Amino acid sequence: MTSDNTSLQVCTTPSDLSALTDQLRADGRSIALVPTMGALHDGHMQLVRAAKKLPNATVIVSIFINPLQFGPTEDLDSYPRTLSADLDLLAAEGVDVAFAPTPNDMYPHGYRSTINPGPLATELEGATRPGHFAGALTVCAKLFGISRANHAFFGEKDYQQFVLLKQMVEDLNLPITLHPVPIRREESGLALSSRNRYLSAEEHALAQQLSASLRAGVAAAEGGATPREVVDATRTHLAQYPQIDVDYIEIRDAGLQPLGDYADATVAARLLLAARVGTTRLIDNMGLMLQPWDY
Ligand code: AMP
Repeated sequence: MTSDNTSLQVCTTPSDLSALTDQLRADGRSIALVPTMGALHDGHMQLVRAAKKLPNATVIVSIFINPLQFGPTEDLDSYPRTLSADLDLLAAEGVDVAFAPTPNDMYPHGYRSTINPGPLATELEGATRPGHFAGALTVCAKLFGISRANHAFFGEKDYQQFVLLKQMVEDLNLPITLHPVPIRREESGLALSSRNRYLSAEEHALAQQLSASLRAGVAAAEGGATPREVVDATRTHLAQYPQIDVDYIEIRDAGLQPLGDYADATVAARLLLAARVGTTRLIDNMGLMLQPWDY
């Protein structure tokens, strides 16, 4: 199926996509995959633009709201579904192929074999979302297999997901290269997210404080703060907005391992948070460099 007026090809079944990509690979193309859950915004488009820079690559964007990565009390039913607008955006961006399967196409045997993502999946996001990363990694492993992709692009918005995916690709020797893409933000600093659609105007204004608090932490690090002081600076900023319900604020190394009590050289680190604004749970993170410290 090809959507109106464009060269965007839409596949809905795994077998159709595999047949297409087998042919593309036989023709010497490489395959660049951008997995999404739809409700596309300019953050997703950043991934597309990065994928399109690869030489000789056919870009495939998957749109699939993966039930396996949602907990029983999460927003699976209300998650925004905007397929026709999504396809228009992809066509306008010059994407070659969209893959939009149904849950039954993806899980014809139910949730039988799944990925065990290892210990990091129980921390940070995993502490409040048990099973989330098992679900996210399982669907990505399936998408890698179905698409036979050589490359896949993921946003640093979901930094922990990217670290876990890198671990999976390394641990399972999957023949694919993963590319991280920086977070796309509104001018206010708010990270673009499909879930921002849930926010009222008032909540939207409040949500900008999440990135502002991370910037306060980064500024503290630039001034030579220790990891604890960076977290304190972030928390102190958010404490001015008691309507924001903070889930966690943590600083880890770039691989999301805990930082020790001292360091005798600069350390690349990641400052991460999750918080509820109204009923909407939002995440954000920033990279930073820490000066040597000793507690
Ligand atoms: P989602 O549709 O929310 O599952 O996201 C699909 C992909 O887009 C994931 O790799 C996300 O990390 C990435 N993404 C979502 N929002 C942004 C953003 N604001 N900037 C960069 N990447 C993003």
